[in-house]
Amino acid sequence: ADDLVAAVHRVMGWADAARRLGVRANADTAADAARARRFGARGIGLCRTEHMFLGERRALVERLILAEDDQGAQRALAALLPLQRADFRELFSAMDGLPVTVRLLDPPLHEFLPDLTDLSVRVALEHRDEDVRLLAAVRRLHEQNPMLGLRGVRLGLVVPGLFAMQVRAVAEAAAECRAAGGDPRPEIMIPLVGTVQELEIVREEAEEVIAAAAEAHGTRLDIPLGTMIELPRAALTAGQIAEHADFFSFGTNDLTQTVWGFSRDDVEASFFAAYLEKGIFGVSPFETIDTDGVGSLVRAAALAGRAARPGLKLGVCGEHGGDPDSVRFFHEVGLDYVSCSPFRIPVARLEAGRAATAAP
Ligand code: PEP
Ligand code: MG
Repeated sequence: ADDLVAAVHRVMGWADAARRLGVRANADTAADAARARRFGARGIGLCRTEHMFLGERRALVERLILAEDDQGAQRALAALLPLQRADFRELFSAMDGLPVTVRLLDPPLHEFLPDLTDLSVRVALEHRDEDVRLLAAVRRLHEQNPMLGLRGVRLGLVVPGLFAMQVRAVAEAAAECRAAGGDPRPEIMIPLVGTVQELEIVREEAEEVIAAAAEAHGTRLDIPLGTMIELPRAALTAGQIAEHADFFSFGTNDLTQTVWGFSRDDVEASFFAAYLEKGIFGVSPFETIDTDGVGSLVRAAALAGRAARPGLKLGVCGEHGGDPDSVRFFHEVGLDYVSCSPFRIPVARLEAGRAATAAP
């Protein structure tokens, strides 16, 4: 058994020395981050902050989104700030010295609001006087297609103070880690950007918040601000977007959804399985990158982004980041890193090494 372990280490060492692609992890907790480090991840490429608001904290986000008055929203934000600061401090400590890409909140709204399609939820709300206003607010925000609705940057722009709170928590956590002798390397990522104007607005506010936090802590904070490229429009206008982004991370889950017009929520449904059986596309494009369609958008956006901003850092953080065939494609396109779930890190390292040594 010892021989086997030594052989595995030898092969991984060879792959690591050969590969050009960096390998990071998608991780949202310090425990996940520590696991990812053990598997050889050299940073976090995606921390989905919406996962930090499940359970008891969910109510705070719900209150913030539904708040009808400024005071209510301010109270919810004030309660969220220290929780987020502590989350990020733990994450930066677990990944000390390595980059941690924190993605600003990107929840499909239906995960945070009471489900009005559930009759019992509706009846409960309708029979409590104090919830009549709440019910009206939930109705107002109800969406037919939440995955194509008020998500990501759209939510950040519609709910004042939400992104600023998260950016402040990142900046303050970084300042605190540094004061404690650590080497935090945060990066902030904006989700679901479709037009450069969205990015410009968020970026301007974020820069102000970071500068204020740095001044308050008497330190310098260099926090790269980048964007996900996960909508066809973002890929098609990558040159414009790159002017305002320090890095791109391709969100191939949403990009596959929007390029194909298949709902991510329904790919487990029987219709999709039946469709796959027709053999029209071999493997599911949600598992292995569809090089002709989604892949050509990735390639074009990478080229346009780097033409507008030489040296622009490029990564991918969709599920494809841990899929062997897709990793080979990302190597070929010239991305800087892939980010995948902790358990797929060894596969990504190995495949990135093989891609780098394969004959052209
Ligand atoms: C993606 O869309 O590929 C992505 C990484 O983001 P999420 O899966 O959280 O939408
Ligand atoms: Mg996405």
